[in-house]
Amino acid sequence: MPRLNYRSRLIVWITLLVMVGFLTISIASYVVSRNAVRDNIAAQELPLTGDNIYSELQKDILRPVFISSLMAQDTFVRDWLLRGEHDATELTRYLAEVKQRYNTLTAFLVSEQSRTYYHAGGILKNVRKDELRDQWYFRVRGMKSDYETNVDPDMANRDAMTIFINYRVSDFKGNFIGTTGVGLKVDNVRGLIDSYQKRFDREIYFLDNQGNVVLTGSAHRGKKGNIREWDGLHDQVATVLSNNTVPLQLEYKRQGALFLLNTRFIPELGWYLVVEQNASSATLAHRRIFGVNLAIGAVVTLAVLGLMLMFVARYQRRIEKMATTDHLTGLSNRQGLALLFDHTMKQVARYGEAMSVVLFDLDHFKAVNDTHGHLTGDRVIAWVAQTVKQALRESDVLARWGGEEFLIVMMPCDLAQALQVSEKIRSAVQASPYRDNELCLPLTISVGVAQYQQGESIDALLARTDRALYSAKQLGRNRVESLARAMAPGDGAMPASGNPSLTPT
Ligand code: GH3
Ligand code: MG
Ligand code: MG
Repeated sequence: MPRLNYRSRLIVWITLLVMVGFLTISIASYVVSRNAVRDNIAAQELPLTGDNIYSELQKDILRPVFISSLMAQDTFVRDWLLRGEHDATELTRYLAEVKQRYNTLTAFLVSEQSRTYYHAGGILKNVRKDELRDQWYFRVRGMKSDYETNVDPDMANRDAMTIFINYRVSDFKGNFIGTTGVGLKVDNVRGLIDSYQKRFDREIYFLDNQGNVVLTGSAHRGKKGNIREWDGLHDQVATVLSNNTVPLQLEYKRQGALFLLNTRFIPELGWYLVVEQNASSATLAHRRIFGVNLAIGAVVTLAVLGLMLMFVARYQRRIEKMATTDHLTGLSNRQGLALLFDHTMKQVARYGEAMSVVLFDLDHFKAVNDTHGHLTGDRVIAWVAQTVKQALRESDVLARWGGEEFLIVMMPCDLAQALQVSEKIRSAVQASPYRDNELCLPLTISVGVAQYQQGESIDALLARTDRALYSAKQLGRNRVESLARAMAPGDGAMPASGNPSLTPT
């Protein structure tokens, strides 16, 4: 049915519109807020964390660098070495003094001449080239820069992990004569990193200039080895390790999650400080809200659709009723009858039931209008409709065919039965004059009857009925005629039976 198609199309379009609207708004607001979170992390939060850690580092590590530099420049240290390292207690006293005054974990000096390792507690050992633990010394010995920062276990402190500042000591002509410096506990720096990691759910770690992870918090999550081996980051290694003292922002993807990264080179340490955040988990709340929005959208869409369907259905029923009902009599009008015929014809085709049609017209109605006015005419029409309706069965359908003509569809009902019913209504009308105060109008109707014949069209059936009515008018009004009877003038007005012919002459 085209009517239904139109309705389904309307529903599909409105559903699409509402859904597209909701989706667009939800997606747009999600993308905007997610990007805002990401931008904020990249532009504000990570650099700020980097700055904070850097300034804490300056307190914790850069001061030892400064102390080590003073030690390496100290004329006492240089003279003592150049004079042949005679009195070890003089130097250890000096180292103990440094350690105590600056509150470092250790203070040391290694002589190039004797390869002796001095610390605050005395002589620790001799450094040897073939000893793995002494490699650091030979690295510093061959180094071009003045110092390095190195994380190693400290033998003088029960192998506690220590950040050493290894400073080259030169004689007054610039020749290398040893290495001095201080060491401080890694734990202090780790504690700092840990507190930041916990507080902001960020990962903080240090890389050397080769990209090796040299220092992380104690609870580091898989951050080890070299960044060149990490998924998603290898093609950005050069950017991370670009000697940038100004913090750099970059991002990479690992296992479907987006990571934002802030990296800066700390020249005093020779290390890179990296602050990293998983942006996908930072925007998790937004994704949840997005999901909730979609769910709300779906519910609202369904609710809107449900309401709309209800209203459309209600209006459609009302409009259908209005379009198919005659206002004056409350009966079906021609449109209503057309629908009814559709339905009835199917019944007839399926069950082969007999169907008859009765058409009647008020006699001399023009006179009623002319004498008493149109309003009274209307009331008379309504009155006749009511009178006839009362004389009919519940299953018979009475409709206003137009003007003061009415049509009755009866099923199951053959011609003989239809003629009986017609006579009944004819006499009912005759017996029920219209009364209004003083006014009493006797009324009669002329009736045409026909039975549906197999294979006949509705139009043909109605044409036959109309001709029967015409005959009734012709034969003097206030009578019932079927077509077969109409063909035989002189017969009584009330035939007992007879098949109507399709081809009257
Ligand atoms: P006949 O016996 O041959 O049927 O004579 P008639 O005067 O009834 O003639 P006809 O059926 O041709 O005339 C119908 C009249 O009914 C003409 C029209 O003005 C009038 N009429 C049609 N519809 C209405 C209506 O809704 N209200 C009123 N008051 N009059 C109507
Ligand atoms: Mg009439
Ligand atoms: Mg008429």
